[in-house]
Amino acid sequence: MKESATEPTTPLTLAVIGTGPRGISVLERLAARLADGELGDRAVRIYAVDAVEVGAGRIWRTDQDDWFTMNTVVGQVTMYSGGPDGGPARPGAGPSLGEWIKERAERHGEPERGPDDYASRRRYGQYLRSVYASIVEHLPDSVELTEVPARVTALAPRPGGGYRLTLDRSPRVLEADKVLIATGHPRLAPDAFERRMLDFAGRHPGLHYLCGDSAADMPLDKDTIPPGSTVGIRGLGLSFYDVMLSLTVGRGGGFVRDGVGNGDGHEGGGGALRYVPSGLEPKIVTGSRSGLPIPARGRNQKRPDHTHRPLFLTGQAVAEARERRFLATGDHRLDFAEDVLPLLMREVEHVYRTTHERTTDKRTTHERTTDERTGAAADPLPPLDLRALARPFQGAWFESPDAFRARLLDLMRADLAEAARGNADGPLKAALDVLRDIRNVVREAVDYGGLRPDSHADDFSGGFLPVNSLLSAGPPAERVEQLVALIEAGVVEVAGPAADFDADEAAGRFTVSSPQVAGSARTATALVDARIPTPDLRRDTSPLTRSLLADGLVAEYVRTDPGTGVADPTGGLDVTRAPFHVVDARGTIRRDLYALGIPTEHTRWFTQVGSGKPGLNTLFRQDADAIAADMLRPGAPSPSAGRVAAAAGSPA
Ligand SMILES: Cc1cc2nc3c(=O)[nH]c(=O)nc-3n(C[C@H](O)[C@H](O)[C@H](O)COP(=O)(O)OP(=O)(O)OC[C@H]3O[C@@H](n4cnc5c(N)ncnc54)[C@H](O)[C@@H]3O)c2cc1C
Repeated sequence: MKESATEPTTPLTLAVIGTGPRGISVLERLAARLADGELGDRAVRIYAVDAVEVGAGRIWRTDQDDWFTMNTVVGQVTMYSGGPDGGPARPGAGPSLGEWIKERAERHGEPERGPDDYASRRRYGQYLRSVYASIVEHLPDSVELTEVPARVTALAPRPGGGYRLTLDRSPRVLEADKVLIATGHPRLAPDAFERRMLDFAGRHPGLHYLCGDSAADMPLDKDTIPPGSTVGIRGLGLSFYDVMLSLTVGRGGGFVRDGVGNGDGHEGGGGALRYVPSGLEPKIVTGSRSGLPIPARGRNQKRPDHTHRPLFLTGQAVAEARERRFLATGDHRLDFAEDVLPLLMREVEHVYRTTHERTTDKRTTHERTTDERTGAAADPLPPLDLRALARPFQGAWFESPDAFRARLLDLMRADLAEAARGNADGPLKAALDVLRDIRNVVREAVDYGGLRPDSHADDFSGGFLPVNSLLSAGPPAERVEQLVALIEAGVVEVAGPAADFDADEAAGRFTVSSPQVAGSARTATALVDARIPTPDLRRDTSPLTRSLLADGLVAEYVRTDPGTGVADPTGGLDVTRAPFHVVDARGTIRRDLYALGIPTEHTRWFTQVGSGKPGLNTLFRQDADAIAADMLRPGAPSPSAGRVAAAAGSPA
């Protein structure tokens, strides 16, 4: 592996491409380190470049509608690498989103939110902008930060090191010694199914097919989806709820809680939520593989700095499993189903059982001892089967849409009851929260080709991930409640499991149906993909990504099976371990080019993270700091052993 040299010019010039949460997190750590005097009075120039909104980014842009909400409670979200210290908010010491909202409410009378409430995405964007402003405000005199609202379309290495960036608008060209690619969520070229649907829509006036994206960026207007028309929506995950709200609340409808007057449906308690239509909604027909709308997150009962200390799926257990694999096979790569999943399930089941015991077993010690002697048990606990929870309709057949609807509403109401029990006291939601809490250990097992490629594809990506994302990533309970109300109002119909979306040439309409629900077939004039596209470098339409790949400045991360030699191109960008230097097409580590977050998905797992947690040194923060430290290290070598070793299948 060769090395590319960097001779920084004076001033040291850094460019951050993309100022969503990842780009801002690096800017924050750069600024904190510079304020600590890391480079003395050496002049530093930083360009913060974003095509949509510098300081917030596309997903969190501040001009989006208010009904798009975050799925993390405000008390658990921060962009500062340290908490407030009584001084002004500044890099290294600033408020969490919850604290910031509280302060704004007190000082400026802005709407309040408790630490366990959810904020709109727009609000988080405003918070990000305030973090960005505090970064700019507290830079040392020797540091200049320039905001560049433009799209980078190409990057060319300069002969003496560093890069020339081409922009789509003024100033057209920038020069930088070191560059960070933090370009976030991609827009992908349509796949074969999407091409067919787009072609079908193109041949039939009045039909529309919308590819998956952030709903705030989708044309969900009345021209595309007219009032009274039928729209098919593919997917019942988080984005489904965004599209659902755009087509209901966004059309002037509202939710009221029966028995408590004309609330807006945001207050807790009271009677059932009911939808009051505006008459401008379309009829929504939806479905997914499971047929189950993504379940709600448990009511938050945890402190912001809560961490789950794993007992079974620990870093050490993963390292030992690798060692055992190596002794048995000469290869450190793990089998997810054999080496990881059983530990993960023990972890989840342990929390399930102990939460149940803690919250239901109110017997005195004497009673418990007596019961144990006589064989009597506390409330029995149903077994926890993640697959059954995620696929509740597997093998089921429904004789009519009404029969399916009744079963679905039962399940959704049961889920709401579980969510109300909380994520600490409710055994089910507490157990499912473990799936979120142990992501870092799972990362240790799977990142950088840590699994055998066949196990990665079949057991991890094919088996575990769909179940994991359905059960661990849910929306606030309020969203599920709203969906129940919309189903009851007949505005939304869930077709059923194994939902099939297609185009009917004869009818000139899209079709939605479930093979497991008799009579579920419906036709629609618009079809919306409500799933966030999985990153894939090869289908990325970004001119920057395309030119980087074409020029060989970046390369796709390929997992190779050491036994068979079969190569598995992942669609992720090849980077070293922290500080995430890009590895180019010749295998050279480019020490002046970094990539963080979503472009590196598949090389690393679960990069779609948008914040740190107050009081914790999260991976999100560590990633940012590693890059910031390296960017400020003039010409010094940085470690490359991690990635090289990982590629050879040795331990992390
Ligand atoms: C609809 C949606 C909702 C989400 N909700 C949550 C949530 O509630 N909580 C959570 O933690 N995560 C959420 N996520 C996950 C999300 O991935 C992270 O929150 C976060 O946005 C990732 O940050 P990022 O900086 O990597 O990417 P992004 O936020 O996508 O930012 C990347 C930025 O790069 C810019 N960019 C891209 N290419 C160029 C270029 N060539 N030139 C200049 N600029 C460029 C883009 O304009 C964009 O602003 C959500 C994601 C989506 C899609």
